[in-house]
Amino acid sequence: MIMDCIFCKIGKGEISSDVVYEDTGVKVFKDTHPKAPVHFLVIPKEHIQSIAYLKENHSDIISKMIYRAKEAAEKLGLNGYKLVFNVGRDGGQVVDHLHLHLLGGWVGGEYLNI
Ligand code: 5GP
Ligand code: ZN
Repeated sequence: MIMDCIFCKIGKGEISSDVVYEDTGVKVFKDTHPKAPVHFLVIPKEHIQSIAYLKENHSDIISKMIYRAKEAAEKLGLNGYKLVFNVGRDGGQVVDHLHLHLLGGWVGGEYLNI
């Protein structure tokens, strides 16, 4: 836990969020400023700054994050979606606590292409 980290606080429930899944290691919650019709974030409860700060022993938490994103997508009824990690300021990362964006809900091929 890093003091003043907003996603550590969301992970601990100190800041409220719209949660679709939670266990001891991971939380999946709605993004407050959605960039897609459906936009959720998957975070580890452990504070890891970004993908750039991953250690080899974090591979388990990364696979859990991806698996829970997949489950959340099913629960939300998404047929297709994007999973995105922004890494560092030049990669568009604003919040310095690792998070996986789950983006979807577009219809008729209106998704943002990358
Ligand atoms: P980044 O640009 O760092 O990859 O994405 C951070 C995301 O966190 C943004 O999409 C932003 O809308 C979202 N966000 C920032 N603050 C909060 C918050 O307090 N609660 C929730 N649910 N999402 C937040
Ligand atoms: Zn944190």
